[in-house]
Amino acid sequence: MASAMIEYPGNVPVWVNRDNCKACDICVSVCPSGVLGMRYDSTSTLGAIISVDHPEACIGCNECELTCPDFAIYVADKKEYKFAKLTDDAKARQAAIVANNYMSLDQQGVK
Ligand code: SF4
Ligand code: SF4
Repeated sequence: MASAMIEYPGNVPVWVNRDNCKACDICVSVCPSGVLGMRYDSTSTLGAIISVDHPEACIGCNECELTCPDFAIYVADKKEYKFAKLTDDAKARQAAIVANNYMSLDQQGVK
C-alpha cells in the first residue's frame, strides 16, 4: 500500500497517522514495554484508535512499526531519540494491557 509517512514531529519515540489506524490491536500486542493501548474514539470508524500512553517507556524495538499492516505508526531513528531500557514495571504494564483486551489502562471502562 502506498501511503506517505507523516513527518517526524520531533522529540517523540513513536508517532501515529490517525487516519490510517484500523484499530486492529496488533501493535499493542507486540509492544514489549506497555507503551501502547487502544482508546475509544467516536470519530474513528472502528470506535477506537491507537494511543501512545507511555512514550517514556519506548525501547525503540520497532516491532509496532514493522507489524502494523496499515503504516499507521512510526518509530524514531536511534540517532533522533534516546530510547528507554526495558524494565520490570514496563513488562508488568504490558501484561496488564494485554489482560485488558489491549485497551489503554488509562481509559479502563470509560466511553
Ligand atoms: S518501538 Fe517497541 S517499545 Fe516502542 S512502542 Fe513500538 S513496539 Fe513498543
Ligand atoms: S497495528 Fe497499526 S492499524 Fe493496528 S492498531 Fe496499531 S497503529 Fe492501528
